[in-house]
Amino acid sequence: MAKAAITFTFDPRLHLFVAGPNRTAAARVETDGVSSLGHVVESLGVPLTEVGALLADGRPVPVGHVAASGEHIEVRAFAAPQQVDGPLRFLLDIHLGTLARRMRLLGLDTAYETPDIGDAALATRSAAERRVMLSRDRGLLHRRELFAGAYVYSTKPAEQLDEVLARFEPELAPWSRCTACNGRLRAVAKEQMRDRLRSGTVQTYDTFAECEDCGQPYWRGAHSPSLDAIVEHATQEAATRRRSA
Ligand SMILES: [Zn+2]
Repeated sequence: MAKAAITFTFDPRLHLFVAGPNRTAAARVETDGVSSLGHVVESLGVPLTEVGALLADGRPVPVGHVAASGEHIEVRAFAAPQQVDGPLRFLLDIHLGTLARRMRLLGLDTAYETPDIGDAALATRSAAERRVMLSRDRGLLHRRELFAGAYVYSTKPAEQLDEVLARFEPELAPWSRCTACNGRLRAVAKEQMRDRLRSGTVQTYDTFAECEDCGQPYWRGAHSPSLDAIVEHATQEAATRRRSA
């Protein structure tokens, strides 16, 4: 098989995925001459979920493009806001529990379960339910079955949430989902809560809700100030993005 020598320039945002020598502009890479560009990019360490456009000598090409010897390939990072086919739903891997609860707090449809069901089952669920797989596991993001995926760059939940909101610009609906199970909340009359909650709680608050799926009761004001701060920050950032769009 005739090998091909091609050169790559990766967007700096993708540098964390590639080996040091390939971070330089026009890094030389030898391929087998028959593999698709998508396959070559993945073999160099970059999940295709993170790739925006591929350019061959300045022309946009699909991931199926087979680069010829001497071609220069530019690999761009995804562009925000990232569009998803259909309603925006997410699936988070086992390591992103805090992020999952914060996304639910903002009303985002966020599947997350313990214990770990494993990469194969996660990928299958992403495809079956058309959910965007969020993970810091590159191996999981390489899986072909995924409906869509996104690498989570930060290890800090606050920054992770900012990343997801900046990348997908989802509609926010704070306090509309159960943070425990992702079910929708429905309003419950104060009288109906009297038997279920301590009388002090019922007297102190006026707005009650319960999860349609697991029955967990919620009441506004009971949450910690830190949850209020998360909602406040997210809605302000969303408003700023809308203004600058
Ligand atoms: Zn619930």
